[in-house]
Amino acid sequence: MSQARRATFSTPLVTYSKPGTSNRLFTSGASRGSPATSTVASPETFEYEVDHLVIGAGVVGLAVAERLAVRGSGSTLLVDKNPAVGQETSSRNSEVIHAGLYYPPDSLKTRLCIRGNEMMYDFCEKYNVEHRQTTKWVVGQHDADVAYLEALNTKANRLIPPSQRMPGPPTYMITPEQMRKDEPNVRGQAALVSVRTGIVDAHELMTILGSRIQEHGGDVVLQCAVTAIEQISPQSGGVHGGSVTGGRGFRVRMETPTGPVVVKAATVINSAGLHADKVYGLLQGSSPSFLSPLQRDAKDPSTITPSLTSSISANSPTQPLPPFKLHYCKGHYYSYSGPALVSRLIYPVPDKNLVGLGTHLILDMAGRMRFGPDILYVDRLDDYTIDLETVGSLKSLELVSEVVGAYLPKVKASSLYADYAGIRPKLAGPGEPFRDFVVHEHEGFVNLVGIESPGLTSSLAIAEYVEQLLY
Ligand SMILES: Cc1cc2nc3c(=O)[nH]c(=O)nc-3n(C[C@H](O)[C@H](O)[C@H](O)COP(=O)(O)OP(=O)(O)OC[C@H]3O[C@@H](n4cnc5c(N)ncnc54)[C@H](O)[C@@H]3O)c2cc1C
Repeated sequence: MSQARRATFSTPLVTYSKPGTSNRLFTSGASRGSPATSTVASPETFEYEVDHLVIGAGVVGLAVAERLAVRGSGSTLLVDKNPAVGQETSSRNSEVIHAGLYYPPDSLKTRLCIRGNEMMYDFCEKYNVEHRQTTKWVVGQHDADVAYLEALNTKANRLIPPSQRMPGPPTYMITPEQMRKDEPNVRGQAALVSVRTGIVDAHELMTILGSRIQEHGGDVVLQCAVTAIEQISPQSGGVHGGSVTGGRGFRVRMETPTGPVVVKAATVINSAGLHADKVYGLLQGSSPSFLSPLQRDAKDPSTITPSLTSSISANSPTQPLPPFKLHYCKGHYYSYSGPALVSRLIYPVPDKNLVGLGTHLILDMAGRMRFGPDILYVDRLDDYTIDLETVGSLKSLELVSEVVGAYLPKVKASSLYADYAGIRPKLAGPGEPFRDFVVHEHEGFVNLVGIESPGLTSSLAIAEYVEQLLY
């Protein structure tokens, strides 16, 4: 891909900056586009050209943009509609570096989590991101749990290869006697120890990724909401025929505090988290070659959308990704007011369909305990409130202490309080079976879909995968 001709935005925009430095602003004028003729552009907008446009500055979009900027073979622009990076799912999670134990062996979740785990520890060490390899126990209470854990142990040891950093087995089983010795407050019939599990300061990780994008010549622009996308067909030649994108790519309109901006991008990465279905819908609505065969045959393509969800398969670049609809699954966290009762992460045996990993115990960097997340499918993707009458009620806290009490009996409802919530962007609706991540590229447009847990752990590996799809 050739180097983009860098134009500037016509108006000052809010850009990301390292703490302690002033915001770099785009100023008007160097390279205005010709009056626009498409549905995306309008006469009052100006154009900016870029090789890689990443939509969404959560941890995944940041990791992808960092990877592409560091690559150095094209310009990279990362945009987000919010005034700061990582304000949605990426700052409302457990901050656990998962080991990749639970998911089907041939799934992207397994592959990218195992690879991402290794990359995460390397990155954190290299760039001084606060993290800790705490290890974790998955604790079983009944014979059926123990059988599950033994099978998980066999699977993990078959799946996760030894590495230079971690040459020993990734998991092993311990007896109740060993458990009592190491964690006297934990109860259970047996536990699986996951050696590679840890925690990371997700905010610090995102700050460093943002800084590295800029150090490598990329831009991170905030308060920049993508509102329209259309493919520039090779025949139309694009607005700047003969420019870097060779007349191909995508014309993307964004709303900023100072007016609309149009970016012409050779490649687009949709990393919009909970909004990924809407962002892809913008492209599908305007660009026939991104409609699925079923949509193309339909009189009104919009009527088809959600029903194709189950047909999304692994990456098949010759076909556009069928439309999809995300479900929003809220998870609340309960903090514990008191000194920590354990020194590592403690998980119960997970739900069968892996909708969540069970109400587990996590530690933050300061060693404080919190429990969660629970599972509540909701209609809204932007409602992070804690309903004190339900979720925060005494009855609810008693329920949490009962669930947690199975493995940590000392936890009382009076020491718990509902703290914060995150929302999972799920492909699986309530009661539906496991769904994998979808990472799909077609004609330079990459969709990252259903990037729920273990998306934080997998972020650097997803970025590596995206680079492989594009180059
Ligand atoms: C409760 C919970 C617990 C979790 N725990 C863990 C864990 O312990 N370990 C782990 O590995 N993973 C965990 N995850 C998963 C992890 O948090 C996510 O996979 C990850 O944060 C997803 O990052 P993202 O960048 O894809 O999405 P987001 O962080 O949601 O970022 C998407 C961004 O896109 C932007 N955007 C959307 N639409 C537009 C638009 N039109 N224009 C411009 N910008 C737009 C948004 O503003 C947002 O900033 C958890 C998730 C949840 C909900």
